[in-house]
Amino acid sequence: MAKQTIMIDFDDTIVESIFLQRVNRFLNTCYTFDDFKDEYYIDNIIPKDKREQFFAEFCDTNPYFEVKIIEDAKEVIQKLNQKYEVYICSGCVMYNMPSKSAQIFAYKYQFLIKTFPFLSPQRFVFTNSKHVLKGDIIIDDYLDNLAGEFKQKYLFSSYHNRRFTEQDLKNLGIKRVKSWKEIAEILL
Ligand SMILES: [Mg+2]
Repeated sequence: MAKQTIMIDFDDTIVESIFLQRVNRFLNTCYTFDDFKDEYYIDNIIPKDKREQFFAEFCDTNPYFEVKIIEDAKEVIQKLNQKYEVYICSGCVMYNMPSKSAQIFAYKYQFLIKTFPFLSPQRFVFTNSKHVLKGDIIIDDYLDNLAGEFKQKYLFSSYHNRRFTEQDLKNLGIKRVKSWKEIAEILL
């Protein structure tokens, strides 16, 4: 029997946000994730006239060089990979810096093949248009990215999505998961 397919998001699902640290460094501030309860785009805190400079610098230095992997993500994905057909699905186009985004594809690809050598690079899907995806299971921290055709949809808890209630999510056929341990309990 064919294995079920599972699409796993990358940023804020497998690795912590790459923006908080970079924004703090750029602005010389000490923001924490709690300051962005309703805001997915942490970079929106940067004054508009400085955003181009921020993104130019952001794309020029590999933001995944110092990124933190979310607890248990690697171990659980390795186990999921034995039971399911695992796809990593991630947007790479910076919405306000498309001309510089080619490097983001390369940075993510390099990080993935180095950190997850057991995954097939043939199953890396780099797109910002996740609503067109379909399969059996999807895990993502961004609600809009769960709009595709899937039998099971999981919202990975993150700083920006805490406001959605269990009932909000239930109405959309989505279940919240708070950790990779919880994902392991459900899917393994
Ligand atoms: Mg994400």
